[in-house]
Amino acid sequence: MPHFSIRRPHPSSPSRPCRSAPASICPNDSLCGGCRFISEPYPIQLCRKQNAISSLLAPFAVPDPIFGMDHPFHYRNKIEKAFGTDKSGRLICGNYRAGSRDIVPNADCIIEDEAASAILADIANLADRFRLQPYNEKTGRGFLRHVLIRCFASTGEILVALVVTSPIFKAGKHFVADLLARHPQIRTVVLNINSRRTSMVLGDEERVLYGPGFIQDILCGCRFRVSARSFYQVNSLQTEKLYQTAIRFAGLSGSERVLDAYCGAGTIGLAAARSARSVLGVELNPAAVRDAIVNADLNGIRNARFIAADAGRFMLEAATDHRHFDVVFLDPPRSGCSDLCRRALIRLRPWRIVYVSCCPETLARDLADFCRNGYTATAVQPVDMFPHTEHLETIVLLKPDSRR
Ligand code: SAH
Repeated sequence: MPHFSIRRPHPSSPSRPCRSAPASICPNDSLCGGCRFISEPYPIQLCRKQNAISSLLAPFAVPDPIFGMDHPFHYRNKIEKAFGTDKSGRLICGNYRAGSRDIVPNADCIIEDEAASAILADIANLADRFRLQPYNEKTGRGFLRHVLIRCFASTGEILVALVVTSPIFKAGKHFVADLLARHPQIRTVVLNINSRRTSMVLGDEERVLYGPGFIQDILCGCRFRVSARSFYQVNSLQTEKLYQTAIRFAGLSGSERVLDAYCGAGTIGLAAARSARSVLGVELNPAAVRDAIVNADLNGIRNARFIAADAGRFMLEAATDHRHFDVVFLDPPRSGCSDLCRRALIRLRPWRIVYVSCCPETLARDLADFCRNGYTATAVQPVDMFPHTEHLETIVLLKPDSRR
């Protein structure tokens, strides 16, 4: 597997300097460790990411200048905090220290939404006042495990999920009333029940305590319904740039049959649907497929369908049935495309493949395969979705080789 490292400084400067807020040193940095590059000025971080992706993808194409953020702070629209106690038994909440299960109190996190941080601080106060027992990982005892908060600037809507060990929350009504009195912008509050001894944050059971149980975001002119358990990109501003670029790379004219593989809640396909003849979304997780169908309806989009299936298996069947897709969006998890997926896609031979990757290493591995099998990478756009961290999102446009 090719290696992606943004650790080594590089003497050259970014080809397009980014206007950014001055570098800020996080007060929790040494304890939390979540943002590995926080102590470096943001333009330098961008420069490193640009250089790293350029050298990794050098055999295929030259990436365009990375899309950075003008204000690379408070960009996370979702926060998840663990509850526990400190050495003197006082309730604390925060993130786990990188690589451990120790809770680092960090209500003032500089990458998280500020409204969410304020709500979290009040939930911690209320939890203390209502004497909610924080969960103890060692004994499996206690009530309040985590709090998840989602905030969307586009609609101003906020969702709060209290992750607890039992569905019985006698003081629930008063707790929620007090919380809403302080933060009337909260649109919905849910109780998520997770009684298992697991490191997974959310359980499968949910009760709505207030509101509809979901909130909405607006991206690329589409409304998306998001609940506590939905998969949804955490940086809405950069996601809009990501999707716009993916759709631009697709070169849609209104007549294309589009396959959105690894579609999640259907976001890319739905954002593209108005410029295409039809969209078919394929996604392994049935709950995400249900979200995608609701989202199509919510936007009055009638030319998009979604099915729950393994993307590779679906494409193999489609190739065997001689079905044709003009454009295929690929947005796989960090593990990249499976062997089966790549083989099937090469047989399907779409006019364009738009590969949206959250892992440069698997992207490079998959590109090598596509380029050995009749495709050429004609455009590469890195997008900084997670400033101050080592993560990087990249979109690549692949077209069939004209020599074949
Ligand atoms: N395109 C979406 C989701 C991308 S995340 C967005 O932008 O929000 C990757 C998605 O791939 C997840 O929803 C995951 O459930 C799905 N997935 C993982 N393995 C898969 C497989 N083998 N076949 C189809 N979908 C898969």
